[in-house]
Amino acid sequence: MEVLTQDALTRCPLRSLPLRNIVTTASTGLAWKGGTVAEVPGGALSSFRGRFGGRVVTAGDADYDAVRAACVWNGDIDRRPWVIAQATSTADVVAAVGLAREVGRDVAVRGGGHNFSGSCIADDAVMIDLGGLCDVHVDPVARRAVCGGGTRWSQLDAATQEHGLAVPGGFISHTGVGGLTLGGGVGWLSRKAGLSCDNLVSVEVVTAEGAVVRASAEDNPDLFWGVRGGGGNFGVVTSFEFQLHEVGPMVLFALSFWDLDHGPAALRAARDQVPHLPDDVAVFFAGLNAPPAPFVPEQYRGATGYAVLLVGLGPADAHARAVAALREAAPPTFAFDTPLPYVELQKMFDESAPWGIRGYEKAVYLDELTDAVIEVIARHLPNKASPMSFMPTFVLGGNFARHADNESAFGGRRQTRYVLNIAAVAPTAELLEADRAWVRAFWSDLVPHAAGVGSYVNFMADIDQDRVIASYGPEKYERLSQLKAKYDPGNVFHLNANIRPAATV
Ligand SMILES: Cc1cc2nc3c(=O)[nH]c(=O)nc-3n(C[C@H](O)[C@H](O)[C@H](O)COP(=O)(O)OP(=O)(O)OC[C@H]3O[C@@H](n4cnc5c(N)ncnc54)[C@H](O)[C@@H]3O)c2cc1C
Repeated sequence: MEVLTQDALTRCPLRSLPLRNIVTTASTGLAWKGGTVAEVPGGALSSFRGRFGGRVVTAGDADYDAVRAACVWNGDIDRRPWVIAQATSTADVVAAVGLAREVGRDVAVRGGGHNFSGSCIADDAVMIDLGGLCDVHVDPVARRAVCGGGTRWSQLDAATQEHGLAVPGGFISHTGVGGLTLGGGVGWLSRKAGLSCDNLVSVEVVTAEGAVVRASAEDNPDLFWGVRGGGGNFGVVTSFEFQLHEVGPMVLFALSFWDLDHGPAALRAARDQVPHLPDDVAVFFAGLNAPPAPFVPEQYRGATGYAVLLVGLGPADAHARAVAALREAAPPTFAFDTPLPYVELQKMFDESAPWGIRGYEKAVYLDELTDAVIEVIARHLPNKASPMSFMPTFVLGGNFARHADNESAFGGRRQTRYVLNIAAVAPTAELLEADRAWVRAFWSDLVPHAAGVGSYVNFMADIDQDRVIASYGPEKYERLSQLKAKYDPGNVFHLNANIRPAATV
């Protein structure tokens, strides 16, 4: 239905009606929002349906609202794409990019739908949902895995762990490999094996012009540099090839928890220990509420406090020494130790950020967790309203720090030691609003102690251009802008942490 084209409007029997009230039906005809009123055969959408292998969902479909809600993790996002194109192949992605070009609509790309900003979904856009591109092939001998552009980490982890192998991923298994990897990718394996994007071997990309190109160290190396940190700016990645590392299948998990009074001293102790930890002891700090889990003593269930998690990925004695040293320096309120499968570690926090919950976040990079930073944390942590809101802090160093800053487009310095995230996670709109204010106040007080306003581009619920530029730094941003001008001069892929093409900067 050519709602957008003059031709269609002339043919439309309802052309005197305001444009904003016209949406497309499933069968390419016209409809009022809420009900079909007329059918107009032919046009771009019907021809698209003919060449698209997957399902095409529009406002005329009975399950349109259910489909668009299920696409996005953040329940605070409520947007109405013109078309949700559920791709099943690279050819489908080419067709969907072509449709958007033909009708002049925005393109939104959905990998796993997990970005706080909801950038995968947009009003009136052609939304390309890659969820159907999730095949994973593992070659255990070559230690390589290839997965589709819409694969989730749970799917990739399950396939690689069958061989005792893994790609560094994130902390929540229902996050998409796509967005997480293209923006960087920090998680349990960052200190052992670097970022997710550091482990890319090649990608297949559908460009703004609809060309299918491969990028690797040998093929289109400029593009390969850009997709490793530059986000979804250069095209739709339909497949990722990763190198794999030996991990698990069992790992050693140790959680130590301190109440609000003792937490700051614990953070100081953990901070002092971090530079001495071996790469295969992963470490993660959080300000959070203790879960209602069996291992939490009853009186502390739901209590706000601090946790330090140490995960042994290598020799057991190195892990045991790290745990003992931390607990000696700062005796915890309670602790919990267990061996567990790596795939379970990867799912451990899934329920703390369930699908459809409301979320908002801001983050900072910190070179050091100074006493001044710990004082800011101690002042703000108790003020959160939602029990689910938390302060996950990713500890870097190790292999992450051994990659050169310019080796990839990743938006951050390799000498940065912490990514401190302040996340509002709330079951109701009221609690979210309260904690949105909490996030902003907390973040403003941290910025003077941080490496500026730039931070990890995957942790931006509000995507401000100034912060995107600050995250990459002016030199890297300029190089990215030049690359953008080469691969996407019209800024077709702009619903993201956007890099503006050089000519328009
Ligand atoms: C609860 C929660 C926990 C998180 N934990 C971590 C963590 O531990 N570590 C970490 O590094 N990050 C983490 N993140 C951030 C996460 O990396 C980003 O939100 C990322 O964008 C999610 O990717 P996605 O594909 O699921 O998201 P989507 O919303 O689908 O995609 C986000 C953007 O990425 C681009 N994109 C996605 N896939 C493709 C593709 N195949 N081709 C081209 N462009 C694509 C698009 O521009 C899209 O707008 C977390 C986020 C949440 C909400």
